[in-house]
Amino acid sequence: VQEKLEALKQNTHNTVNALLDTMALDLAAKVDAKIANGESIGLLEGIPFGIKDVYMVQGTYTTASSDLLKNYKSAYTATAIQKLLDAGAIPLVKENCDSFGHGSSSENTIFGAVKNAINPELVGGGSSGGSAVNVAKGYTVFSIGGDTGGSIRQPAGYNGVYGLKPTYGRISRFGLMAYASSTDCVGPIATSIEDIRIVLNAMSGQDIKDQTSYASESISEERLSYSEDIKTVGYFKNFVESEAIDAEIKADFLSAIGTIKAKGIKVKALDFFESNTLVSTYYTLAMAETASNLSRLDGTNYGNRIEADDLKETYAVTRSENFSAETKRRIVGGNQVLSQGFADEIYLKGLNLRDQIMANFEEDFNEVDIIISPVTPSTPPKIGESLKDPLAMYLSDAYTVGFSLGELPTLTIPQGTATGLQITAAKNNDELVLKFANFLK
Ligand code: GLN
Repeated sequence: VQEKLEALKQNTHNTVNALLDTMALDLAAKVDAKIANGESIGLLEGIPFGIKDVYMVQGTYTTASSDLLKNYKSAYTATAIQKLLDAGAIPLVKENCDSFGHGSSSENTIFGAVKNAINPELVGGGSSGGSAVNVAKGYTVFSIGGDTGGSIRQPAGYNGVYGLKPTYGRISRFGLMAYASSTDCVGPIATSIEDIRIVLNAMSGQDIKDQTSYASESISEERLSYSEDIKTVGYFKNFVESEAIDAEIKADFLSAIGTIKAKGIKVKALDFFESNTLVSTYYTLAMAETASNLSRLDGTNYGNRIEADDLKETYAVTRSENFSAETKRRIVGGNQVLSQGFADEIYLKGLNLRDQIMANFEEDFNEVDIIISPVTPSTPPKIGESLKDPLAMYLSDAYTVGFSLGELPTLTIPQGTATGLQITAAKNNDELVLKFANFLK
């Protein structure tokens, strides 16, 4: 724990928001005492981990990497984090991320851009960039990211580690700062499938404080050894044939298909929605939900209030001065698609398309057991580049957002050199995702 805290301290500009050193050292001392007493300890006891700075941990700052909350201290602890604490894991750090989860590069943050663990000239990916980089660099054993449209899977891919977005609802969202509540998921980033499995088990379960959470069975190590239950793997033809895909990513993906076929599994090309449809459906709904979720941040009850002449002006100045340009773009976009005259044409159309996407997945999973995809169409950009073109940044989410809208369990594993491979199964079938990843190892 001490060693890792030291390493994190040396890299504050890069990936770190706030060190939880007092808490970490206290907890570590308790585990040491237990060991000295000859008591046995649990699997997660004494294991150091990091937390994306959108999770409440009582008594610590939770800033969402935003000026609006830079002085905000959590009054309670998120259920998923509490479960890890109960298992004896040791929180080291709140991790830098795109403000409120808004972004794909971890540059939309008041703490400075997160640098990629493999090539520091490139972005760390987002929005859980600090979490993926900390794991890749070995500063944390695992980190808890948040994934609304790809924010665990994409930075995991950019930094060569594993990242799981579980089935929507498998882990309680209570205490995760809401971005888009209908796709927000809690999930682990780690360096092995085994670590992902252990952390997933520890955090899963129904929670009275999140009505969308559900009870699930724990996934045992034995069950991950491959039995013959994966016969057919599908992939989306249009993702691979798209002009937007980088040659390097396509080559890595085709080589994964080759490996799978060589192992005797059938591979089937599937039809799917165009990238533009997926990205516009996701951003319509995500912006609508974030406009609504962030409306509470007006400086009255939370955050960095900037006083003005009257109350209305106080709201306006507090929000205008403290939200980033990217967050304001989303609030304005979200309020527009929800407003009279636009709601039917745009927001309801988005909901309708989401239903069609879900129905499409249901049909696909009658034919295939697993769907594979590259994580992104493009390799990580240089720091500074994606800020110039928000639309291009949105389009870089083309391969992750569909699975979020489908509420599906989906995992990034390292594959080749570019962005990793995404493995997806039908709803509630998180075990099959891990099993297939294990099989490919
Ligand atoms: N890049 C996507 C967005 O900005 C996904 C972010 C996320 O999953 N939090 O909405």
